[in-house]
Amino acid sequence: MSQRIAVVTGGSTGIGRHLVGALAEAGYRVAFSYHASAEPAQALVTHLAAQGHDVLGLACDVGVKSEVEAFAAAVIDWAGTAPDLLVNNAGIQTWAPLLELSEERWDAVLRTNLKGCFLNTQVFGRAMADRGAGGAIVNIGSGCNKHAFPNLVDYTASKGGIEQFTKSAAVELGGHGIRVNCVAPGAIATERTAEESPDYEGEWSPITPLGRVGTPADIAGPVLFFASEAAAYVTGQTLWVDGGVFTRAPWPYR
Ligand code: NDP
Repeated sequence: MSQRIAVVTGGSTGIGRHLVGALAEAGYRVAFSYHASAEPAQALVTHLAAQGHDVLGLACDVGVKSEVEAFAAAVIDWAGTAPDLLVNNAGIQTWAPLLELSEERWDAVLRTNLKGCFLNTQVFGRAMADRGAGGAIVNIGSGCNKHAFPNLVDYTASKGGIEQFTKSAAVELGGHGIRVNCVAPGAIATERTAEESPDYEGEWSPITPLGRVGTPADIAGPVLFFASEAAAYVTGQTLWVDGGVFTRAPWPYR
């Protein structure tokens, strides 16, 4: 049987980088995009190639249609076929009060997080549909899919959009055998979250029912589940991978 093909957007750092490695370990040939982090991207390709994995890393701004089209053409040429799996992971955050948030930052966050998800889903979804063998798409959401976070209005709007985009895409693409689901992480320790707070773990662990922050490895299993035959009849769903933190109601007692 030929090797399955996976595409991960934003695979150069954090959760995306771990997903690229986990999918390669699971037997996929993996192509990923990155935006600014050329060196980490190249280091990841070199590292995985040394372990015998076939991995392609290409610069592509997920929010620019011409770049996504060029990325998809290069990936399909490299793979020789449409991918079996697309993971829409690329995302950015801006911390700013609503009353001060600039139009530029709003546009950048919505373009990257939501439009990027749309553009990649459209171009790879078309390729999957044309191939006629189905496929799986996993969007990386957030607690912001359903919760309001202060000073993150642009990010919250983008992830709320991903929640509904996932459902609409699942309904539209189901006829092609393409399943679309969402993994919504809780507090996951990455380089980015370490920059966000000097005590990220100390802040999130006490309010997380499982008593710890997550790691990028915690996200890989659920993504692999949605990609697998075990999820053959699952589409349009969001799975919270958050140690319970977004299920926990803020009751005024212990
Ligand atoms: P990182 O900042 O480490 O990773 C973001 C990735 O997205 C990088 O590879 C980055 O590439 C890429 N990226 C950013 N902008 C673009 C763009 N315009 N085009 C292509 N790629 C781009 O963050 P995380 O790993 O923490 O986050 C990954 C995803 O998980 C995001 O969607 C985020 O919203 C979500 N998430 C993370 C949580 C956490 O606690 N860490 C919690 C909930 C959700 P480059 O560096 O090359 O620009």
